[in-house]
Amino acid sequence: MTEKLYLTDSYMKEVDAKVSKTDGNSMILDKTIFYPAGGGQPNDTGKILIGPQEYKVVDIKKEDNDVIHVLDRPAQTTVGSMAHCIIDWDRRYACMKYHTALHLIDGIMEKFYNSGMITGGQIYPDRAHMDMDMPGLTREKVSEILEKTNAVAKEGHEVLIKEIGADEAAEIPRLSRTETGRKLLQTLKTVRVVDIVGVDLQADGGTHVRNTGEIGTIELNAYENKGSRRKRIDIILK
Ligand SMILES: [Zn+2]
Repeated sequence: MTEKLYLTDSYMKEVDAKVSKTDGNSMILDKTIFYPAGGGQPNDTGKILIGPQEYKVVDIKKEDNDVIHVLDRPAQTTVGSMAHCIIDWDRRYACMKYHTALHLIDGIMEKFYNSGMITGGQIYPDRAHMDMDMPGLTREKVSEILEKTNAVAKEGHEVLIKEIGADEAAEIPRLSRTETGRKLLQTLKTVRVVDIVGVDLQADGGTHVRNTGEIGTIELNAYENKGSRRKRIDIILK
């Protein structure tokens, strides 16, 4: 099992880890800071240095409890060797800002606009979108929501990552706002939650900034009506 350091400290940019398995271009380490794609957030990229060799990390996958680092070529190393891992921080930090921004928008919609379920979403390093099941949503309303979200972001709310028990999680009605998330919650003993203090609380496995003041200004890139259950809000950060 790989220790997933990104779950507890999303600001780690480098770490030394031990090689636990290699197979062709794939490598498993005892611990990692590389985020595998999930929950709409893309995988990290970066590099791994082993002795004099430098490998590019081109993809990150999760298999059961292991995180697989896909390298640009087969590693010339043995189990137990030390590997120095460096993530592409600019890409990761941009994704963190977009991820927290989406949670904040959703929190504002939940609090003030009686929003429905989230029916889709994807984060990129330079933009992000979220699809909402909210038949009455309009472009004007979205502009108003984003204005409110930006005002709240600038108040500088702390963003905390916590683990709570399944019983406590079951008491929080809107802890997950996706169908798949709700099904997953029923199988977990402990639930990782992202708490944007005073604004939003959601079950989540992604990486986030520590404070909403880091997000910047959210701008509407596009608004698309993709059906009554899919109103797409596409944002960019400035
Ligand atoms: Zn999320």
